[in-house]
Amino acid sequence: MIKKVDHIGIAVRTLETTLPFYTDVLNLPLLGIEEVESQKVRVAFLKAGETKLELLEPTSEESTIAKFIENRGEGIHHVALGVDSIEKRIKEMNEKGIRMIDKEPRIGAGGAHIAFMHPKSTSGVLVELCEKKG
Ligand code: ZN
Repeated sequence: MIKKVDHIGIAVRTLETTLPFYTDVLNLPLLGIEEVESQKVRVAFLKAGETKLELLEPTSEESTIAKFIENRGEGIHHVALGVDSIEKRIKEMNEKGIRMIDKEPRIGAGGAHIAFMHPKSTSGVLVELCEKKG
């Protein structure tokens, strides 16, 4: 069911000041930058072998990423597990008593279908389930 760690989400204040570390120091290929309006973030994906790094820059103070940075500073925000049949996985998690933040999948960066688990059910780790469609 879990295919791999699809990506690791990292909250940053600005992509502009953070990206050079990943692209110039670590030499990771930049796969693209896009704005996800529904989540009020600008997202940069970097390729780190089989896994990606997702840098999340808030575009509004209302963004959950802005609130995260305000409370905890920049840093690792979530771990995304690649799955198939995300609807089934959500149902399965519910049956196993795991609290989901998203009861239904929503559309995230790259058009992926995503759903977050509640950190109270995962020992404090924000876990995203992520299914690439098409
Ligand atoms: Zn993510």
